[in-house]
Amino acid sequence: MGHQFAFIADPGESTDCVQGLGDIVYRDEQMSGSALFEALGQPDVVTVEKEHVQVAMLESLAAHCEVSPNPEAIRICQHRGREKTLLRSLDIATAPFELVDDAASLIAAVAALGFPAYVKSCEQGYDGQNQWLLRDSEALDRLAAEMHRLPPLVVEGAVNFDRELSLIAVRSKNGDIATYPLAENRHREGILLTSEVPAPAVAEGTLKQAEHIARTLLTHWSYVGVLSVELFDEGGELRVNELAPRVHNSGHWSQDAGVTSQFGNHLRAITDVTPGETDPARPAGMVNLLGREPPVDLLQARDTSLHWYTKSVRSRRKVGHINVQADDAISLNRRLAEIESALYPEGEAL
Ligand code: AMP
Repeated sequence: MGHQFAFIADPGESTDCVQGLGDIVYRDEQMSGSALFEALGQPDVVTVEKEHVQVAMLESLAAHCEVSPNPEAIRICQHRGREKTLLRSLDIATAPFELVDDAASLIAAVAALGFPAYVKSCEQGYDGQNQWLLRDSEALDRLAAEMHRLPPLVVEGAVNFDRELSLIAVRSKNGDIATYPLAENRHREGILLTSEVPAPAVAEGTLKQAEHIARTLLTHWSYVGVLSVELFDEGGELRVNELAPRVHNSGHWSQDAGVTSQFGNHLRAITDVTPGETDPARPAGMVNLLGREPPVDLLQARDTSLHWYTKSVRSRRKVGHINVQADDAISLNRRLAEIESALYPEGEAL
């Protein structure tokens, strides 16, 4: 698209994935917003590809150039408590929840929400990390005894969902909004394994709910860029599990399905270009590579492409993904199941 890039990295952060793509600026804590802006080569716009970035740094840059999405949206999405409180204030359904910061409030919250309870740290938790599933009072007592050394937590009542979905939405600077089709996502051990698009058998009303949720948030924040919404589907009624102010793993299928990818649409949005196509001509899907390389014969089939992140392979680590497409939903589903079972034999831990 004719843009030039520069990248901000923390000291010691690996920058292999952006080598050769532009200047890399190693930021130190003392660096002022204007020094960082100059070191980056006076960019027109700054964006993020993960939400765990210092909001103060983004705010200091915002005095010099555009920062999209805006730092306030990132501040909210960094913290499950702030996120859920905002969703509640916008009348968007979530799991029932309570915020807790000591043993007494934890015990009271679980008494109100019942077992099983999902307990999650407000900050820095992802892929099921910093989470506890409390099934009984012994598990509750054990966690309560640890509370003095734990950060603030959110306690959620269990949602009895039929499946997990996600919606990737994009809003450009001029206010145009586009959404990709709902994806159906399967997880294992709390980590995304497979996404399938469009999610099968979605009622019109469910799709409308998902789009309404995304639009409400994008408009509330005057958001610019890609916003991802993870959802629980309970008989067609949706609850938001989590938001991500960035491109999302469940949208990686868009790299190969004949649409503008979520990455392309994010860049279009933040550079004031209206969103490109989001509707794939054929059903599409993705399987994550978690801690393993794929067998070569899997990749030789039609409509199959490997995205390898050139990371060293460690147990459970996301090291790539495989995108597939098929002529119809049944063939896609079969193909995804075939790849999934070749990579992750039934009954084996990740
Ligand atoms: P999270 O890190 O919040 O995305 O949670 C990881 C996974 O745990 C989700 O994808 C769900 O499969 C499950 N999970 C999380 N919260 C709940 C909940 N309140 N009720 C039922 N399942 C949940």
